[in-house]
Amino acid sequence: QPEISGAFGTLMGWADATRRMRVRANADTPQDARTARAFEVDGIGLCRTEQMFFDEARINVMREMILAETVEERRGALDRLLPMQRGDFVELFEIMAGLQVTIRLLDPPLHEFLPHSRDEMRELAEQMDLPVSHIIHRAEQLQEFNPMLGMRGVRLAVTMPEIYEMQARAIFEAVLEVNSRAEAPVIPEIMIPLVSAAREVELVKARIEAVARDVERETGARLEYRLGVMVETPRAALRAGDLARTASFMSFGTNDLTQMTYGLSRDDAGRFMRDYVNQGVYPEDPFHALDLEGVGELLLIASRRGRKANPDVVLGICGEHAGDPASVRFCELLGFDYVSCSPYRTPIARLAAAQAALLVKAGR
Ligand code: PEP
Ligand code: MG
Repeated sequence: QPEISGAFGTLMGWADATRRMRVRANADTPQDARTARAFEVDGIGLCRTEQMFFDEARINVMREMILAETVEERRGALDRLLPMQRGDFVELFEIMAGLQVTIRLLDPPLHEFLPHSRDEMRELAEQMDLPVSHIIHRAEQLQEFNPMLGMRGVRLAVTMPEIYEMQARAIFEAVLEVNSRAEAPVIPEIMIPLVSAAREVELVKARIEAVARDVERETGARLEYRLGVMVETPRAALRAGDLARTASFMSFGTNDLTQMTYGLSRDDAGRFMRDYVNQGVYPEDPFHALDLEGVGELLLIASRRGRKANPDVVLGICGEHAGDPASVRFCELLGFDYVSCSPYRTPIARLAAAQAALLVKAGR
């Protein structure tokens, strides 16, 4: 594990005493969380839960859930995933005791959970006791032309709300388990990805509140949690006022926001980025250096509208840019509350946040 000590530790101490923004880590696994903790982060700002479903024990259950034709079948698969998901969160919460942990609900492009090869289809057919032709047919029905613009994030949850209900239950049960024995309680934050309309948030919020009430009734315990959204579509940025009335925090996913603002695939842009930068079309790769003119203006609009509608709304950023000093400075200028980046970039983010606080205080 990394260690912050000696002169480096002293420098970090000065940065911490100077900075205003919190610095959190993006962490999906216990190993990431331990690294983040060793780097003395202020919490987890983004746990991407879709990463938890790709191992062998889970992927087929996940596929079964996605291919299910009835709610009962879907619930059956989700019931099998629940204990595993609860275990994931218990581990994370134990490591992060006393800190805030933001769990982002499932956000895969749907095709990542569809069976692809013949072998995968055959295996699934056996598991579900269905003919292979049925699996092929169902998978074809769910194929999309543009998965990154299709059934992703909250859209998946509006259509299949049972998925987020399972995850919310796993979070609540895990937090009660961990907090019953931990000295410093974890405060979970549940984050809804890829929203673009307030109604999406209201629909998910009602489901999550119902799960919370069920768990409280079953256990007799009181649950404390916060619900927030990711701002990663231009529409979400423009309608941030509506979102902030329903959400207690807004975290900017600048990877998708950059993709959506430019209409440029984040997975393919590398092929021509060098030509674009060399010919001066883009000053820098906007996926690495935040595009202050375009994406930055959306951040400005969204943060103003969000705060106007709800002065208490917490503002953060969790895209790749959150660990880049120039973006950190921009976030300070906009009055953000935290930045969240990869654990290994958090020391730079802490220094950048301190520098930004000094510069803004000095009016520069
Ligand atoms: C983002 O889009 O900036 C983000 C943090 O989410 P992901 O990278 O998982 O899409
Ligand atoms: Mg995203």
